[in-house]
Amino acid sequence: MTNLFAKYDVPAPRYTSYPTVPFWTDSPTTDQWIDSLNQAFADEAATWSLYFHLPFCESLCTFCACNTVITRDHKREETYVDLLSTEWNLYVARVAGLRERSLTGLHLGGGTPTFFSAENLERILKPILDSTRVDKDRFEASVEVHPGHTTREQLEMLHGLGFTRISIGVQDFDPEVQKLVNRHQPYEVTKSITDAARELGYTSVNYDLIY
Ligand code: SF4
Repeated sequence: MTNLFAKYDVPAPRYTSYPTVPFWTDSPTTDQWIDSLNQAFADEAATWSLYFHLPFCESLCTFCACNTVITRDHKREETYVDLLSTEWNLYVARVAGLRERSLTGLHLGGGTPTFFSAENLERILKPILDSTRVDKDRFEASVEVHPGHTTREQLEMLHGLGFTRISIGVQDFDPEVQKLVNRHQPYEVTKSITDAARELGYTSVNYDLIY
């Protein structure tokens, strides 16, 4: 056992997909990708889920391996919302199933989804939710949040759109560890977001921790 600890106590790549992205060699063309979506939606019983990657954070955590842009310039939200809207319209023009088949899952990840104001999050989500068939019995919507950059207003708006699950990036409560990983969020801040989520009716409150 001691030998195993010694063997693996070294820096290593972080795997969130396999093979890792640099080894993807057979990416589809746009037409192949759209065709494969239409084929998947050909089945009338097909359902679908939607993931939004919102790639902005105000500061960089030292353990980060995510695709994100570090900035405090919140004017960038507007451009990104407009681009997402354009991309969504391009999809629905070519993939009828996005309107016809039931949406059962929605997830906001990043980056820090709550980098975006409540108003801008609503601008991204509402037009999509209003124009698709949401399966109310099976629908689950979730959001990842940074407790230091999340407001009750954001959580309230998201809950109003059907969000019931929240994953809070706690990482570690120890101020010394927080300093080392450049993630400053006092216990009281995390508690206040946790309490707000429960009061608003989020039925699943998850903590992300690092080891
Ligand atoms: S909040 Fe998440 S995505 Fe942003 S820098 Fe920290 S670990 Fe990376």
